[in-house]
Amino acid sequence: MESKVTKKPVVLLDMDGVIADFIAKLLRVYNERWGATFTSADVTHYEFYECFPKEVAKRLYDIFNEPGFFRDLPLVDGAKEMVEKMLTFGCEVELCTSPSSAPLVKTGHYALNANCAKDKVEWVHEHFPELGNNITMTRRKQLLQADFLVDDSHGNIEKWVAAHQGNGSVGILVAQPWNEQLSLSYPLSTRRVQLRDVPAAIEVQTNLAH
Ligand SMILES: [Mg+2]
Repeated sequence: MESKVTKKPVVLLDMDGVIADFIAKLLRVYNERWGATFTSADVTHYEFYECFPKEVAKRLYDIFNEPGFFRDLPLVDGAKEMVEKMLTFGCEVELCTSPSSAPLVKTGHYALNANCAKDKVEWVHEHFPELGNNITMTRRKQLLQADFLVDDSHGNIEKWVAAHQGNGSVGILVAQPWNEQLSLSYPLSTRRVQLRDVPAAIEVQTNLAH
């Protein structure tokens, strides 16, 4: 008898803006230091520094490049439950994140911030130990093949779907204020959903494909 092998969906899961609340910590630190009252509602672009005056943007950039910044980002509400549901469904989850870049002191070349990379790995070990060995760091996610990319960046989703839609891959854009107004170039291969609805979107799409 022919045995039926069900392929586990491979999911690339972004961190900042999806499971780690980068903006919440960034604005909290800024407000404490500079006596401001910014909230995440002020962030309406993915390139968040465009939402602020130049001197504020420069300070924000300096804050998130400080050693330890990414180590204690708050978990996004519902992120734990979302990951648990994906794993229960049988997804192979690979965290896929872009560490910040900063100029190297000696040469000025832009390069991945090593503190950020270390902080991110330790953050995963604390909050998602079951994924502690499943971490890919890249600023070019479109190079990676998978069944799904779950990301809050409209640009990342568009580039990735353009590269992989021919394989039946689907990009899942996690709804955030900074991607609300943007249209999707590949509506058949892209979904925009709330974080809590990501596992259901993956399940529906996977069942359709079989
Ligand atoms: Mg992100």
